[in-house]
Amino acid sequence: MVLFVKKNDIVQVNYYNSGQVASAVNLAYGKNMSSINTGIEWTDKTWNPTTGCDKVSPGCLHCYAEVLTQRFPQNFPNGFKLTLHPGRLQEPLGWRTPSRVFVNSMSDLFHEDVPLEFINEVISTIKQTPRHIYQILTKRPERLHDLVVNFNLEFPENVWLGVSVENQNYVNRLDYLREIPVSVRFISCEPLLGALKLDLTDIHWVIVGGESGQKHRPMQISWVEDIRDQCQAEKVAFFFKQVGGRTPKAGGRLLDNQIWDEMPSVWYQHVAKWGTLPLKATKFSGQLELTV
Ligand code: SF4
Repeated sequence: MVLFVKKNDIVQVNYYNSGQVASAVNLAYGKNMSSINTGIEWTDKTWNPTTGCDKVSPGCLHCYAEVLTQRFPQNFPNGFKLTLHPGRLQEPLGWRTPSRVFVNSMSDLFHEDVPLEFINEVISTIKQTPRHIYQILTKRPERLHDLVVNFNLEFPENVWLGVSVENQNYVNRLDYLREIPVSVRFISCEPLLGALKLDLTDIHWVIVGGESGQKHRPMQISWVEDIRDQCQAEKVAFFFKQVGGRTPKAGGRLLDNQIWDEMPSVWYQHVAKWGTLPLKATKFSGQLELTV
């Protein structure tokens, strides 16, 4: 289902459509893709100090970021070429509501063409905004590891670091991640392309999702159940994002008839400390009036 809204519309918001509402509101207000409230279920905002990337593994085949650059060329004059956006570095300083911020939904912060100096500027903004949690996800843990070990890159407490693992051939990404001092280490198994046996030592959170789009590669529910069972056995938070299909919402997000929205325990500590829950975490139900 696609939700369309106009300025000054009144829409019903509940826990299950809040992501769609956020996306629709952003489109109605003509926001670009640099930093927006997002429909991605496990985060609240995206922040893209870089855009563009290069494909590194099978999970990249139908890269959603690349599709967006093709669909909205006016917003991406360089297309999918790696591009730094220094003008966006300060954006989170202006966001008052404590939020989960997905860093570089349109890129990979540890792409070889992102200079260490630029990465350190990203980290500097993160340090200045401890009210937010920054979720940095990469398919390039080798470079991340190298920067930490050989170039003294450090992460403040409000950074969560994750790696993508789409099939068993890429579980070695976890070995790099495990060696990095950071408050939360997470895995994104999306698009999940095969069954996985995971070593969850020192991992705090696992997200699973099936691929979506016209050419999506179907995911077997038994793969998801098996990962969920591994997480439960190791007491690791498990988040099931979507079954996938022709659209992100096509298959729903139920597993054994329930929603799995577990978050790492430090998230609840963060919420208690900062005292404000973002929209998606409030299970808010009511009417949201869209006015400027
Ligand atoms: S690493 Fe991520 S952003 Fe880069 S091509 Fe692959 S899926 Fe796309």
